[in-house]
Amino acid sequence: MKKFDPEQAVTEARREFGEHGGVTPSIERSSTFTVMEPGVMPEIFSGKRGPDRGGCYLYSRHFNPTVDVLDRYLAAMEGMEFAVCTASGMSAIVCSLLQLCQQGDHIVAGNMVYGGTHALLKELLPQMGVTTTFVRPDDTESFERAIRPNTRVIYAETVGNPTLPVADIPALGSLARARGITLVVDNTFTPMIVSPARLGAHVVVYSMTKFINGASDMIAGCICCSRDFGHALYDLHTGRVMLLGPTIDPRMAFDIIQRLPHLGLRMREHSRRALAIAERLSALGVKVIYPGLPSHPQHELFKTMANEDYGFGGMLAIDCQTAKRAEQLLSVLQNQEKFGLIAVSLGYFDTLMSCSSSSTSSEISAEEQSQIGLSPGLVRLSVGYTGALEARLEQVERAVRQVGLVAR
Ligand code: PLP
Repeated sequence: MKKFDPEQAVTEARREFGEHGGVTPSIERSSTFTVMEPGVMPEIFSGKRGPDRGGCYLYSRHFNPTVDVLDRYLAAMEGMEFAVCTASGMSAIVCSLLQLCQQGDHIVAGNMVYGGTHALLKELLPQMGVTTTFVRPDDTESFERAIRPNTRVIYAETVGNPTLPVADIPALGSLARARGITLVVDNTFTPMIVSPARLGAHVVVYSMTKFINGASDMIAGCICCSRDFGHALYDLHTGRVMLLGPTIDPRMAFDIIQRLPHLGLRMREHSRRALAIAERLSALGVKVIYPGLPSHPQHELFKTMANEDYGFGGMLAIDCQTAKRAEQLLSVLQNQEKFGLIAVSLGYFDTLMSCSSSSTSSEISAEEQSQIGLSPGLVRLSVGYTGALEARLEQVERAVRQVGLVAR
């Protein structure tokens, strides 16, 4: 396959000027737009004309010029035809799945997914007659065994939240194609690092609340897909984005447009720091999970899937075994060493840390957590890039020694 560089793809797409030739695109805040000739209005409603087909913009829940700019940049980043921005990562996930599944349909999903997604699949969608079988995310055969005649979607996170198993996207893509199923991949942890559509995914979803925006100051999501799927999401009669209505605010879209040009730089630095910390912890004998370490079971697979020079991502996990020890570590890292902040979420320029089993994965029952190997003492870190790296390494080393994760 031809080498793909998402950063270059975004750079080439970024040729859209503001209204007066501005170097930034303009923010179009209108909720509604003036139709100059009344006869055009019915043609827009009947789908004959759109802003790109001799019509004009109509209403911002449908299309908005500023949001369209971001959509185009994101589609370029993924090497896909179309992107639909949404008001949150969850709305991107739920609209995609509801567009693909109807009552009586079935999904096969990795069992190590974000807690909100787990709750959606396990508790909410069954109320609408859509059921899910959960399987090990790193075992393609278990996905295959779980497929039924009514399976419509295979759902995986590129790097699963929070224990960081890596899905074999090329294998899942081949499986999905062979069985006429849609592969939906949540790539929130690894934008630019992995390009799932280039590896066989049909739909790629993001929480843009995380790395893509990078400043932890907004909630946003997106669905990258084919033109047909994008138009289906906006269909006036059945489009899940059109009718459920989680459109993104153009001001938010503008903020993300301004941050995409340095996403590549940021991802490389998150990766460089996370690898250095993972290597230091591993050398000290701490149980650390990071796809960039040869000890990670899918280290080699990750290398075959990743775009060149972006590293292995900013997420790593430390298994402290017990919740008490995890809390001690978090407290020392935040309050004593000033290494990072105890907070959920990820993709911020500072390090964010949380104990997953009692926070972002708390929707998964304790019994299930133990079945899927999620330790109550697992601390998930989203490694930031502030401060001198050497000082950060010293902080983390002192902290793991202090709480007894290594002999003093
Ligand atoms: N996907 C992953 C992997 C996440 O970690 C999260 C949130 O933490 C989401 C989706 C949901 O995103 P949002 O909070 O933007 O709705």
